[in-house]
Amino acid sequence: MERTTEDIVTEFNKMTTEDSTSTINCECSSINKSGKRENYMDWMEYFMALAFLSAERSKDPKTQVGACIVNEENKIVGIGYNGMPLGCSDDEFPWTKSSTDTLQRKSLYVCHAELNAVLNANSRSIKNSTIFVTLFPCNECAKVIIQSGIKSVIYASDKHANKDGTKAAKIMFNAAGVKYSQYFPKNKQLILNLSAIDNKEDN
Ligand SMILES: [Zn+2]
Repeated sequence: MERTTEDIVTEFNKMTTEDSTSTINCECSSINKSGKRENYMDWMEYFMALAFLSAERSKDPKTQVGACIVNEENKIVGIGYNGMPLGCSDDEFPWTKSSTDTLQRKSLYVCHAELNAVLNANSRSIKNSTIFVTLFPCNECAKVIIQSGIKSVIYASDKHANKDGTKAAKIMFNAAGVKYSQYFPKNKQLILNLSAIDNKEDN
């Protein structure tokens, strides 16, 4: 039977994290008896890497967050990063956190990655899906996650664990039965070689 993302995260969290770097599309891929490439990226690493890649689209100078929603069949159904709402120009709306002019604070305007991922969902229902996030969701995003029917949250960082917003998010997740677990990526860095395709033979 196909392992669920939950099974996989449990398994991975038992493993120790190594301070390593992996090059995707590495030319020295190992191959098994049937000829199958062995060191391909696993689901967990893949979905979390997509969340991190998505965060690279963010214009926020301080915090770039990404989210990737995956359904029960391991299909990606939504992806997002923190950004201004449609029609609200990235060049005109403020990216500052604590301006003396309170209307010039980004928190009033920015849509968080989780909200965007839910709203961008390309599937009619994201019920029982899993959201991969680079940072533990805030309380506002926790509400969106719960209301959308997402059943599990896999996060990379919990650096705001002491903030009330994060504590409230956990209280709501616990009450609503949304599971959350931290995922420690096997590799600290993934280097994506965008020219590797030209350096490989097809067969
Ligand atoms: Zn949020």
